[in-house]
Amino acid sequence: MLCPRCKIGMREEKRSFHKKRKWICPKCGRVKMQYVGKRGERKRSKKIIKE
Ligand SMILES: [Zn+2]
Repeated sequence: MLCPRCKIGMREEKRSFHKKRKWICPKCGRVKMQYVGKRGERKRSKKIIKE
């Protein structure tokens, strides 16, 4: 993740909010949220047990 302003690598905040990652630019302090998990995210479905 690069800062759009400074074009330098942003550091990742270790706290994560739900499915978001927070990135902070060490230079300008800009915060960027990255959404983790796209449409194609697989939800774990319970296996149907046939009796
Ligand atoms: Zn920056």
